[in-house]
Amino acid sequence: MSYATALRCRECGREYPIAPKHVCEYCFGPLEVTYDYEAIQKAISRESISKGPESVWRYRDLLPCDGEPVDLQAGFTPLIRAQNLGEALGLKRLYIKNDCANPTWSFKDRVVTVAATKAREFGFKTLACASTGNLANAVSAHAARAGLEAYVFVPSDLEAAKLLGSNIYGANLVAVDGSYDDVNRLCAELGDKYKWAFVNINVRPYYSEGSKTLAYEVAEQLGWRAPDHCIVPLASGSLYGKIWKGLNELAKLWLIDSVHTKMSGCQAQGCSPIITAYEAGTFNVKPVRPNTIAKSLAIGNPADGYYTLKIMAESGGSGAAVSDPEVVEGIRLLAESEGIFAETAGGVTIAGLKRLIAAGKVDKDELVVAFITGAGLKTQEAVADALPEPLHIQPNIAAFEEALSRRQAVAATSGAVS
Ligand SMILES: *Cc1c(COP(=O)(O)O)cnc(C)c1O
Ligand SMILES: [Zn+2]
Repeated sequence: MSYATALRCRECGREYPIAPKHVCEYCFGPLEVTYDYEAIQKAISRESISKGPESVWRYRDLLPCDGEPVDLQAGFTPLIRAQNLGEALGLKRLYIKNDCANPTWSFKDRVVTVAATKAREFGFKTLACASTGNLANAVSAHAARAGLEAYVFVPSDLEAAKLLGSNIYGANLVAVDGSYDDVNRLCAELGDKYKWAFVNINVRPYYSEGSKTLAYEVAEQLGWRAPDHCIVPLASGSLYGKIWKGLNELAKLWLIDSVHTKMSGCQAQGCSPIITAYEAGTFNVKPVRPNTIAKSLAIGNPADGYYTLKIMAESGGSGAAVSDPEVVEGIRLLAESEGIFAETAGGVTIAGLKRLIAAGKVDKDELVVAFITGAGLKTQEAVADALPEPLHIQPNIAAFEEALSRRQAVAATSGAVS
């Protein structure tokens, strides 16, 4: 049995039994899972965790599931010491949490393995979601694994690989003409009509708990300590808040010392409702209509925007919004310096980190972890035009050397110009 005790309203504190339910009946506040931490503390230790499976399920005592996991081995991704990128940015201790290395190449596998497990426990036969792309991929794959039906709803203007990356698993893929916020509203209505587990709507309290595992892993990989500073991309703000919750749970369980982590968040300027509020010094997030290449983060009306701003203030973190050209530059910088090809959300994180350093918000001595949440082959459109053409040659040495010297001559002149 799990140690989850109840669902608690984040606004009025009212509690509800564990069930597929996400809003408070009294005040419409969002519900969150609570646990019996005293019992967890007796049950787990650094040692017992280290003997667990190499997936998010090594932290199952901190997750709200009872049943057999729907498991594609999400999580346990590399934490890489980014020496080259650190030097380029002027940071002494920069780490990249590389969540491209997940079963469907984004951190969304973490939330979906938990949501799918819980949905199966509740007796649902169909998994569904409103998605900006990566979530749909993760839901489709985990539904296939569990033998559940999948209905995934996405904006119709998504990148080709994100559409195909759901289709391939046999999911019912629904491309909706509209923004993510339109898709989300439609799914909330469908959720009232169909008995489906919408992972990020009616089972959202369980889904979101999966993101805590990013905090647990980073702390464990750093030798059981919290980073000084986390740099996190923001869509709804759920991931950001759960990294904070996860770190604080570890401290409460005495698995790490008290947490002094600054939590900074990044968005693309074409969809930055949270950063706009942060810069205006208000907790009041005004919805926007997204227009950016960072489609995975394009949520104009972020459900957790208010809570994100609260944590920014409480933790002493900051926010940054970056332009689309900066996103492309961030993707290239990470790839060229560390050999990690991130999607646009990763470009937002790296470009945001660069801005935060320039603004004096990140200190060069801090232990910084930048969260790279999804892989670049899914968003090739974003960078294709920015890259050089391949050398195109006939199969002989003369052709190769001629093409190469032509390329080097061009590089020399453009180098002289800049
Ligand atoms: C969904 C997503 C996020 C952030 O999502 P939240 O709604 O803020 O939890 C970040 N990066 C990628 C690649 C995503 O797909
Ligand atoms: Zn309430």
